[in-house]
Amino acid sequence: MLEIEAAQIQMGRNAGDKHEVLCMLAKRLADDGLVMPGYLDSMRAREAQNSTFLGQGMAIPHGTADGHDLIIKSGVRLIHFPQGVDWGDGQQVYLAIAIVAQTDEHLRLLQLLTHALSDEGLGRALHQATEAETIVALLQGAPQELLLDSQLIRLGVTVEDFDELVWQGARLLKKAGCVDSAFIAKLMQAEPLALGDGLWWLGCEQSVQLPGLSFVSPKRAVELNQQPVKGLFCLASLGEAHRPVLERLCDLLIEGHADRFSQARSRRTVLEALGGQVPADWSRVCVTLANSHGLHARPAKVLSELAQGFMGDIRVRLAEEPGLGVSAKSLSKLLGLGARRGQVLEFSAEPSIAEQALAALKTAVEQGLGEQVEPLPVYTEPAVQAAIEDALSSTQRLDQPTAGSRMRAVAASPGIAIGPALVRVPPVLEYAAEGRGERHERQRLDDALEAVAADIQVVVDQCQETDVRDILLMHQAMLSDPALHDDIQARLAGGASAEAAWSVEVDTAARQQESLHDALLAERAADLRDIGRRVLASLCGVKPLEEPDEPYVLVVEEVAPSDVASLNRQRVAGILTARGGATAHSAIIARALGIPAVVGAGESVLALSQGTQLLVDGDHGMVRIAPDEQALQQALQEREVSQQRQERAYAERSKPAITRDGHGVEVAANIGSSSEAGLAIESGAEAIGLMRTEWIFMNHAQAPDQATQEREYRRVLDTLDGLPLVVRTLDVGGDKPLAYWPMPAETNPFLGVRGIRMSLLRPELLETQLRALFSCAGERPLRVMFPMVGGVEEWRAARDIALDVRAQVPVKDLQLGIMIEVPSAALLAQVLAREADFFSIGTNDLTQYTLAIDRDHPRLSAQADGLHPAVLGLIHQTVSAAHAHGKWVGVCGELATDRVAVPLLVGLGVDELSVSARSVARVKARVRELDWGLCQQLAQQALGQDSASAVRALVEAI
Ligand code: PEP
Ligand code: MG
Repeated sequence: MLEIEAAQIQMGRNAGDKHEVLCMLAKRLADDGLVMPGYLDSMRAREAQNSTFLGQGMAIPHGTADGHDLIIKSGVRLIHFPQGVDWGDGQQVYLAIAIVAQTDEHLRLLQLLTHALSDEGLGRALHQATEAETIVALLQGAPQELLLDSQLIRLGVTVEDFDELVWQGARLLKKAGCVDSAFIAKLMQAEPLALGDGLWWLGCEQSVQLPGLSFVSPKRAVELNQQPVKGLFCLASLGEAHRPVLERLCDLLIEGHADRFSQARSRRTVLEALGGQVPADWSRVCVTLANSHGLHARPAKVLSELAQGFMGDIRVRLAEEPGLGVSAKSLSKLLGLGARRGQVLEFSAEPSIAEQALAALKTAVEQGLGEQVEPLPVYTEPAVQAAIEDALSSTQRLDQPTAGSRMRAVAASPGIAIGPALVRVPPVLEYAAEGRGERHERQRLDDALEAVAADIQVVVDQCQETDVRDILLMHQAMLSDPALHDDIQARLAGGASAEAAWSVEVDTAARQQESLHDALLAERAADLRDIGRRVLASLCGVKPLEEPDEPYVLVVEEVAPSDVASLNRQRVAGILTARGGATAHSAIIARALGIPAVVGAGESVLALSQGTQLLVDGDHGMVRIAPDEQALQQALQEREVSQQRQERAYAERSKPAITRDGHGVEVAANIGSSSEAGLAIESGAEAIGLMRTEWIFMNHAQAPDQATQEREYRRVLDTLDGLPLVVRTLDVGGDKPLAYWPMPAETNPFLGVRGIRMSLLRPELLETQLRALFSCAGERPLRVMFPMVGGVEEWRAARDIALDVRAQVPVKDLQLGIMIEVPSAALLAQVLAREADFFSIGTNDLTQYTLAIDRDHPRLSAQADGLHPAVLGLIHQTVSAAHAHGKWVGVCGELATDRVAVPLLVGLGVDELSVSARSVARVKARVRELDWGLCQQLAQQALGQDSASAVRALVEAI
């Protein structure tokens, strides 16, 4: 985010005209390394297109879109002209602000400047300023706006007394980042003010970071001083920010509208009462902004000019924010929205102009407001339908796999399944936008929600797997999310059909979550869309496909979370998907359910006729279409053998994994939280080979402190009772950001600030983590490894931090290691092996980076096979380097679970295989059936193959 600092401002300069100002600014930007020399032309071109005068003595010169390539890095530089410079049309500029931005980091700054514009005396004050600090204070001193949104309102809270209600109100302010923990105690001591009709007001200005107002109402009225309490406003007071809302509240109370708060059943009612109401007969239209730099000055100008052409009021707001919005005719107000690409703008207009104005504004925004725009990823229902239609027509073009043929794909979940195909392609959903009356539509929606919730409940009741249950319970919670329902209710009241109201609001909520660049929220957004489609299908009367009477093979494009609801293990014998890889969602769900699965088989499987007999071999990633009797019998026998093998493996899970010729391999388990350690040991794991500590960080709203982390680590160490624990330090960033650690959006998150790169930016977090680990390890064996190390500098920096902490917190049995996930680390293994105590190869990432295939890519991830000879070569190099220096090597990626990969990894000399708890017994048994000498020969042959499929064929042939 760009900020204004005194050092960026040159004071007391003179210029004859604005062209001279542009030269001065361009030179300053180039001298400071922000732009390349040609940028002046781009600034001139921009000025020729449109004046960059902002108002109140300020101009914001910047380059055109074509000049974007000349930007080296983002920054802002300011020059102060006390005599003023004529900017055309008699406008005087005292402060020229050059902003160069590579992405949308400047929007916050524009927001600040436009807020400052509302200060009438700003121009004069800038004219008279003599100190850079005064200018900073003038620009930043604009009053902060009061935070008041739906997150700050809770209705019908179950509380025992007034104090508890105060605590709830204060907690909302804390959650919203308005106050710190000390505020709660201080608010408790403040004197409550009775507003009448059961409403109360409580405010405090200590420990406030941002002004905010929360409102809470009790489920059952409580009492204070023998008076009823039906609602409480809690103010985090900072300056005068709350004044307009307080005045409005007083007006409403005087007019006798206290019931809008005390009787409120929806958060929207409260918000609209406080923030102004959009008249009921105003039409609205929503449109998503696609401009890559958001609603910055140029598109905002185009938009305001277009709106000014209509004789009537037009308002616009971010759909995700409450309130009346701002006038679409005001450039400064539009800039003040700070709208980013992907955010939804909601326009409303008075009836006399609504039809024409809304259509024109929508089209203009869609066309980019004078800028070329990259289309947004599509999520809306019509777009989904288009994609489905596309998929359908392509399946029609595709040839059905022929009877008797064999298909190879990715082995995602072990076991053999035989049964008729149930091919499920998403239905095309059609519905009217307008409803048949609010009550009727509400009833239809309630019925659909109830039906879907009941479907889910049936599966929840039968479900044994915690992972899957959690997903389902979350889906149920989504169905009754009050915030979603408030907004839907408003749409139904405006005449929308249940389908339209539901899908627009679900889409808006999902977009909001996606726009936060948070991997966990993005996952929740996918879940929300998924449950949204389920309800929509129910509203459109689309019945689920009729299941065959016997156990069947489900054939789908990808297993979506909602498919889990219909995945009855008694009924679904196997899964075959067109897309996805071994680390995709579908694979994880199938493994959790213990259903044999083959994924990423290509779109042609969707063209299979319903009921086609299929044989799915989840051990070898093989599918047979309509197998003949002989193939069937053979498969049945293999299944029998495989099941017996699994039972035997489990019975012998405590035996060590030693090859027939006496070579031992340690088999450990991967865990994500302390609660999984027990199951891991129970399943025969000889150690924890990978503890993914990021989950501890992601499950907290703030970075967990040392004591919280210690509790987690101690629990695992206690469970292990002397067995080694390999902990990976915090591996976040890139595709899995932490909400409380905001980072600029990256074009290629997998190639960005991830893993150790991120930890080294905030070494205090790494130190706290290490201190927590060392404190509870005592004499127990602790191995700590750093993720995503790319070279010696990163390793040494991380190691030195660990050694410094160790000097303060002694730990007896400690090894420091490196995760080999980046090809450069594997290629440098002989250097790193001199210094590190061990390596653990993260084959998921190592494969992704070696083959340049995004591990989550829906189409390509199936090709990201860790048995590619290039990846095997890197593993070989890593192991040889480590052993030459007497160090050990583990593999903790998914490849260690792969039955075909195990002999090769063992043959390459890997000392430890770390896999999911469910796979421990099977991998141990697999090692016990191998001959190490043969494995070594096989590994050498594999290194000489030309592709992953050739390697697989080689192993399967023996
Ligand atoms: C890996 O990359 O193989 C690994 C184990 O780490 P993660 O899957 O957590 O990125
Ligand atoms: Mg990794």
